Formats: sequence, structure tokens, C-alpha cells
Amino acid sequence: MKYFVVLLLCLPLALFGADSVLKGTAKVLTFSKIPADATLTFGTRHIPLLQHPTDTSKRIALIPVNYRTQPGLKQIRISYKGGGKTLDFNVTQGHYPSETITVAPSKVTPNKKQQERTAREYQEAMKIYATFTKKRYWKQPFIAPMDSHITSRFGTARMYNNTLKSYHSGTDFRAAVGTPVHVTNDGVVVLAKERYYAGNSVVVDHGEGIYSCYYHLSKLHVKKGDVVAQGATLGLSGMSGRVTGPHLHYAIMLNGTQVDPLAFHHEINRLFAHAP
Ligand SMILES: [Zn+2]
Repeated sequence: MKYFVVLLLCLPLALFGADSVLKGTAKVLTFSKIPADATLTFGTRHIPLLQHPTDTSKRIALIPVNYRTQPGLKQIRISYKGGGKTLDFNVTQGHYPSETITVAPSKVTPNKKQQERTAREYQEAMKIYATFTKKRYWKQPFIAPMDSHITSRFGTARMYNNTLKSYHSGTDFRAAVGTPVHVTNDGVVVLAKERYYAGNSVVVDHGEGIYSCYYHLSKLHVKKGDVVAQGATLGLSGMSGRVTGPHLHYAIMLNGTQVDPLAFHHEINRLFAHAP
């Protein structure tokens, strides 16, 4: 009986004592003291330890939590020579809304040629996102790509023509065709081309596993390999690709996982909050 009571008391404490992270968002961990040889893993995934941007005595880890993660208690494993420890955190379901969208049938069920094209474009993008650039380009807080009303948030569950079920993997900004689209931080353009679903697209590498994506543009002002400074115009907004109207789709990939871009800005920008 005594053990039963102890168990009852400990279980909620273990849950509430852990950090909470909404699925589909990123968590930034800061370490003031961590052995130089320490490595981090989250599930089977290795998470690189990086320099804190404003305090060189500290290190950070940027942890993406996939939207499709089953909510519940998860562990981050820290290993180093002669020891190690585990950090608990609780992945929550949140309250993502859902919506139904009607588009041209060919964009829901593409023909064979279109399927080959989208498969090729998918492989090309995955290869980019799997590339970890050691150099850090992001040296200041991240900014929104435009100052406009948000028409669809990240994570909204989607039904296309009542058949294809997916979720919204970015944030949509209301934008008349021709509105300038600005890059969120310093970086290098790694993709600038027309694609089947995303239309005219730009992807920028900010280093250390962070990529930002800008879709459905009407005009591209950059090309692959261009070095861009924060705020530079990447192109003009439009309605190319699979869309129901003109808007900017903005997305962030972190260590190969899509995360809520604006929540990511909020989380990572806190590292700059006490900068001198
Ligand atoms: Zn979108």
C-alpha cells in the first residue's frame, strides 16, 4: 500500500517536472556546463551541440519535434566519456485546426509524368535538407519574410478535394501577386527554381541544419549559390504551383524536420534576448 501511494505521487511529478514541447515545433536547449566530448541523441537521431550565439561559455542544441510524433514523454540522451544522463520532455498534441481545400484534380492525383517529376523534386529537396553545413550564417534574430496577415498557420490538418489528407507544413502570409519576399536571416541560396507543387521556390541555407523555404513566387530575384543578407528580396510573391490563390508559403526545416516557422523564430530568438 505504501509503495502504491509513492508511485501515485511520483508519476505526476515526473510528467509535470519535464519540459513540454508541442509536436511540430522546435525546442532550444542551453547548456552552461557540458563536457566537450558530449553527444546528444533524440530517439535515433543525433542532435549536434552548437555554440551559443551570444554567450561563448554556453552551448545549445536545436531539437525538432516532428508533427507526426506520438504525444507523450520522450527522452534526450546526453553521452560523454565516463557518463551520461537523460533529459525528459513531454510532447503535447496541441490544438491544431483542420480545413478542407479544393484545387485542380491534377494537383491531387498527378499523372505518371507529373508523379515522376514530383518524386524527383522531393528527392532533390530531401538531399538538401539532409546536408548539414557546419558554417553558421544566422548571427542575428530571425525575421518574418513579410509584414502581412497570416491566412493559414502551420500544422492545420488538410483534406484536398476530400481525398488527400496531410497537414500544412508552413505558414501562409496573405500577399497580392508582386509583394517583395524577404529572407529571414543571412544565408546561401541552395535552390531557386520552378517546382510542381511549390511553384517558383527559393530555399536558403542558414547553416547548422537550418533552412528556410519560400514558395509560390511569381518572380525569382536570386539564383542557386547567391549569398544573401537578412532582409534581401528573394523574389515576388505569386500563385505558382498548388494554390487556391496568391500567398506566400513560408517554411523552416531544422535538422531535416519541418517545424512551425514562426514558433521557431520565437524560440531561437530568445537566445539573443540578453545580448549585450
Ligand atoms: Zn502554405
